[in-house]
Amino acid sequence: MNQTDRPSFENTEIAFRHCSNYDLKRAYWLFKVINVNFLVKIGPPVTNFAMKIGLPIKGLIKATIFKHFCGGETIEECNNTIKNLYDGGVGTILDYSIEGEDDEQVFDQTRDEIMRTIKRASSDKAVPITVFKVTGVARFGLLEKLDTGAQLSTDEQEEWEKAKARVTAICGLAHTRGIPVMIDAEESWIQQTIDMLALDMMRRFNREKAIVYSTYQLYRHDKLASLKSDHAIAVKEGFILGAKLVRGAYMEKERKRADEMGYPSPIQPDKASADKDYDAALDFCTDHIDTIAFVAGTHNEESCRLLAELLDKKRIDHKNPHVYFSQLLGMSDNLSFNLADAKYNVAKYVPYGPIKAVLPYLFRRAQENTAIAGQMSRELSLIVKEIKRRNAR
Ligand SMILES: Cc1cc2nc3c(=O)[nH]c(=O)nc-3n(C[C@H](O)[C@H](O)[C@H](O)COP(=O)(O)OP(=O)(O)OC[C@H]3O[C@@H](n4cnc5c(N)ncnc54)[C@H](O)[C@@H]3O)c2cc1C
Repeated sequence: MNQTDRPSFENTEIAFRHCSNYDLKRAYWLFKVINVNFLVKIGPPVTNFAMKIGLPIKGLIKATIFKHFCGGETIEECNNTIKNLYDGGVGTILDYSIEGEDDEQVFDQTRDEIMRTIKRASSDKAVPITVFKVTGVARFGLLEKLDTGAQLSTDEQEEWEKAKARVTAICGLAHTRGIPVMIDAEESWIQQTIDMLALDMMRRFNREKAIVYSTYQLYRHDKLASLKSDHAIAVKEGFILGAKLVRGAYMEKERKRADEMGYPSPIQPDKASADKDYDAALDFCTDHIDTIAFVAGTHNEESCRLLAELLDKKRIDHKNPHVYFSQLLGMSDNLSFNLADAKYNVAKYVPYGPIKAVLPYLFRRAQENTAIAGQMSRELSLIVKEIKRRNAR
């Protein structure tokens, strides 16, 4: 395929080539259930309650929603998924999905597990990028206090030093092994601390090549400006900016908190403004491709189409290591596999971890895929299209 052949995101044959008929049927029923708003609403409390009183539902979760959106409970259990994706030209981003812990021992274990993902990446071409969340290795409340600029107590200062040491150990190993590591973006009231930490890591480790990537949530009205000012800092100080571009996952929570606490919401006034800044960020990054390495983390077809066009227009090689498309496992396979088929760099997040720990992630995916009343979700309509295509053969 030559540089100007654009991928068609409608090709479900390529999108679902890695799925057996059985896989498709399973996905069909899963998205059918997820389409029902009421079930998605009662799902989290019912599941949490059942887990708490010890009902044997782990097997059911593992065989259904977990199997669709996660690679396994351990890195080894992800091997089949990693191979399946790689056979379709798509890389894996192993995402150890532990959320909401506040125990120092768990933070150390999480750091060690993230370091295992980096070691795996350095010995496996199928795992080109790695990722972590700062709240996986540091207490949320501590980050929140740091964000307000309040004075830390001696104990808190010690705790913060330990958290920074964990982040440095992860990024340091990524640097030694030459593996990119992205730092996820989270709630705005801890994000300034995460951003400063990420910038500091980039200063240390992005001198020769992009190792550390900060995340820019373009649903925030200030983040296009942050991307540009961080790039100016990177150019001035002589390091490469690593940027993951996303729209942002916490919109309702952000608006609710701003409303309750009486401060202006950091979120854009409407979806069109978020889209406009996202696409402007793609334009800005492709304009500075030698000094910015970026990952477009999006399921938005228009943004993916735009990025593919920008690369061709600006004569940037599809395989330039400074640009990746990225989606989540179990979602938008029509984008991932058609882009990979057109020889763009593509990698999917493959979340993994103990079932109980990944439940919040699974609930978010279910909520994201509920349908507008009377309509089929995008994922379900693609699955239906592919089942019909196979049946017609
Ligand atoms: C590979 C990858 C990595 C990710 N990493 C992160 C991360 O580190 N941190 C994070 O927060 N999220 C992350 N996300 C999630 C991401 O931020 C989005 O929530 C999700 O991808 C949906 O946005 P979209 O661009 O795919 O598509 P779309 O469906 O086009 O956009 C939906 C998004 O638009 C925004 N939006 C919707 N309505 C409005 C409105 N009325 N006003 C303003 N904005 C609106 C919201 O951000 C919403 O999620 C990641 C997603 C992917 C695919």
